[in-house]
Amino acid sequence: MRVTILRRTLVVAALAVLIAYPIVSNDLYYQNLLILTFMLAIGASGWNIMGGYAGYISLGNSVFIGLGAYTTGILAAKHGVSPFLGCLVGGLVCAIAAALLSLVTRRTRGMYFVIVTFAVLQLLALVTTTWSSLTGGSPGLALPLPTWSLDYQNWPFYYPLLGLLVLTVAVSALVRRSKLGLGLFAIQDDEDKATGLGLRTAVYKMIAFVLGGTFIGIAGGIYAYYVTFLNTGAVFDIVASVLMVLAALLGGRGTVWGPVVGAFILEPLANFTSTGIGGANSGAIRLLIFGGLLLAVVLFLPRGVLPTATSLWQRAMARRSRPSPDEGAGPAQRSSASISVSPRGSDVDGGGRVLEVHDVVKTFGGLHAVDGVDLAVERGSITGLIGPNGSGKTTLFNLIDGTVAARSGHIALGGKRIDRSGRATRAHAGLARTYQLPRLFPSLTVIENIVLPERRLSFTRLWRKRVTSPERQRAIAVLESLGLANFADTSPADLSYGQRKLVELAQALWLDPALIMLDEPAAGISPALSQRLADLIRSLHSQGVGILLVEHDLAFLSSLCQHVYVMANGKIIANGSVAEVSADRAVVDAYLGDDVALAPAEVHA
Ligand code: ADP
Ligand code: MG
Repeated sequence: MRVTILRRTLVVAALAVLIAYPIVSNDLYYQNLLILTFMLAIGASGWNIMGGYAGYISLGNSVFIGLGAYTTGILAAKHGVSPFLGCLVGGLVCAIAAALLSLVTRRTRGMYFVIVTFAVLQLLALVTTTWSSLTGGSPGLALPLPTWSLDYQNWPFYYPLLGLLVLTVAVSALVRRSKLGLGLFAIQDDEDKATGLGLRTAVYKMIAFVLGGTFIGIAGGIYAYYVTFLNTGAVFDIVASVLMVLAALLGGRGTVWGPVVGAFILEPLANFTSTGIGGANSGAIRLLIFGGLLLAVVLFLPRGVLPTATSLWQRAMARRSRPSPDEGAGPAQRSSASISVSPRGSDVDGGGRVLEVHDVVKTFGGLHAVDGVDLAVERGSITGLIGPNGSGKTTLFNLIDGTVAARSGHIALGGKRIDRSGRATRAHAGLARTYQLPRLFPSLTVIENIVLPERRLSFTRLWRKRVTSPERQRAIAVLESLGLANFADTSPADLSYGQRKLVELAQALWLDPALIMLDEPAAGISPALSQRLADLIRSLHSQGVGILLVEHDLAFLSSLCQHVYVMANGKIIANGSVAEVSADRAVVDAYLGDDVALAPAEVHA
């Protein structure tokens, strides 16, 4: 709390100083410096929405400065449109460009995304130079000179940019606090899994990119008027792109204020190195300074100035006020695990099959991982899937939920074919799963993890709070029934392996699935948690959720399943009740082995 108050006070004070500065001082050097700093802060904040929140590092963001500047410049020079209107058109052009760019890069990640954005920057710079009838080509494009009285100095640039910066930061803060931001952070942690939870990640990324691009574009338009002369080299500038990234990294990427702080450190430094260092080697010296700074940030301040300072401050405060000894201990909880779920499609027809898999094939090179599998799960039943390691169980799950594409075969959920649908669509249709090794999102809290899944895309929902109060209430109830209420606002890293598995299950159930696939849920967890898990599975069963359960623990399985399939070498070799398959000769040979074949008493336990 203390940090929040301190931060608010600092922000208000800084804003007051910035508003007052041009009025009380006539120093044009510092006005110019501040204008450039605002530009960089807008650029870094805009970049941060995509680069900091979603983890997509763009090296091409000065494309938006260029597009905004040239749109404004062309409108002003050729059509007499005021640059202060033109820059808004520039913002619109950038919004469209960002949407297109986001479509083009829809399937690129990591290094590839970096390279593509860099290539687009080079490409647009080239187009601008070549298309000289429109842009003035390499000689450049001159805008009309400002017409206001010299008494106003640079105020008409200074205040709009300051306002735009405030707006950019406000939107960035709004995004961070909303479900959109929650989704973006989830994308940064584990995009595949986020898609499996029903998030249309391409839409999230497009909105992030468009928001960032638009603000940078508008700023680019104002900048065009400020410099009054455009040439491609100066506006489609890789150094400007790099500075945006560097400012965000320096200040603290993924935070709201980090990029602004970074810009206020970096731009004065950049300005000093370009004016303070003269001579033939000045370019090389600047490069050395920025390169060294980048290295220093990565080595010594990997999280950035702001997060580091915040945690130092918090630690200092914590030392002063000792925490009460019983903090976080909480009362021991005992409850029967149950989560209320309204499985989708259960009202349509009472019976039938919730999942049908027919003749599905998946090969990895020459390996037939899944080789002509037929399998069905009755609505509201618990169906088991067993088999030795490497027999293709997880791959079958991946085929059903769309993580990997089948080479041939049909998959239907609730009677509708899903094998051509994307992962999010399958989740929306009522399919959920857990993973053999739990995959929670580390930068989200436990409760945020639970409420992240999305049953359908809604643009208004994206702007709601990360966790709305009804959601919080429901999620707390879920956590209570799992005995994990104390962990609601902690990081999933604080949970044990077994607890993480339970939370992942609760997360999947947030989708209200008609079918949930559990990949070895009881493996590696304590007997107490395993009991809780069995309770939970029974309660889901009684609510009509279909369950496909992969498990090696036959006693656990036989206490739950009516029907099991046995898989070996990618094929189903037997199916029936647990007692039936464990008496099957082929199953004993391929999986159980004579000495571990179950005693009948255990089977019926
Ligand atoms: P199970 O879950 O039954 O232990 P898996 O489905 O994980 O088995 O694996 C089945 C087979 O497919 C194994 O031989 C495994 O090595 C192989 N396999 C699984 N995923 C891949 C992949 N992405 N690329 C190559 N081979 C894979
Ligand atoms: Mg497996």
